[in-house]
Amino acid sequence: MKPYSLVIHGGAGTILKSDMTPELENAYINGLEESLNDGYKLLEKGGTAVDVVRAAITALENNVLFNAGRGSVFTKKGVQEMDAAIMSGSDLAAGAVTGVRNVMNPIELAYEVMMNSNHVFLSGKGANDFAIKQGLKLMPDDYFFSKFRYDQWKEIRDSDNYYLDHTHQDITELMKDKKFGTVGAVACDVHGNIAAATSTGGMTNKKYGRIGDSPVIGAGTYANNLTCAISCTGHGEPFIRAVAAHDVSSLMEYKGLSLQDAMQEVVHHKLINLKGEGGMIGVDANGNTAMVFNSAGMYRAMQKSNGEKVIGIYKDNI
Ligand code: ASP
Repeated sequence: MKPYSLVIHGGAGTILKSDMTPELENAYINGLEESLNDGYKLLEKGGTAVDVVRAAITALENNVLFNAGRGSVFTKKGVQEMDAAIMSGSDLAAGAVTGVRNVMNPIELAYEVMMNSNHVFLSGKGANDFAIKQGLKLMPDDYFFSKFRYDQWKEIRDSDNYYLDHTHQDITELMKDKKFGTVGAVACDVHGNIAAATSTGGMTNKKYGRIGDSPVIGAGTYANNLTCAISCTGHGEPFIRAVAAHDVSSLMEYKGLSLQDAMQEVVHHKLINLKGEGGMIGVDANGNTAMVFNSAGMYRAMQKSNGEKVIGIYKDNI
């Protein structure tokens, strides 16, 4: 049996221990652990990388602490519009959705697009209609509501600002008990197939049908058995301009870099040059893993068949 591994993230940004209460820290660790367990259980049983990342993301979407599915941030119009993407590295199949409302698990809709639509990317009403057609579970607005994110939005809704869910900027007070974000998962299964998935509510107060990097194949999400599976988190616009996830793959394919070195290059050089704050998680088809970020922290966790397991929040420690 080949080595297998799973890595997840719950968003990156200005995540500081000094802003965190022990209760909140525990809640995040539990949320990460639950998602890791859901995915890893499947991996151990021989589940496919695609099914493993779906399971890990579903747990995070259902957890109100994370900015994806339930607990997504509010747009300029005061509603939640969610984005998600999934990609399979064995055949380069991909599915993505943007501007989706009331779908309980946007990652399942992305999966349906990949498997059953003949398309890769669906948006807005078309994506919602497809969710209904495929019999996916819809939930009322109340289900997605979280008071913290509502207050966060109220604070800036009359401005043209939009905020990364995780970063202080000039709203330090408001962000004191902030809750962070976008979620992602990458896995390498027992057959050496890899997959990536990302799901998000995007950025608080985003407007005009803004689409971030998360559902854009090659920007926030990418998988190819020849190189790597990547899921990104951070300020989406620079990640799109950097074509960040695919850039890691290109450095591995054309320059022969390792997963870790390629991710370091993109996160610490290319993205920094574009003022792109955030990070990414990755696996390759040999089960190697990496978690790299240029922000103060990134909610992250990984588990490997060699027994290694890590859960982290801040730069140097948990
Ligand atoms: N990358 C996401 C976006 O720009 C936000 C995040 O990672 O929290 O929509």
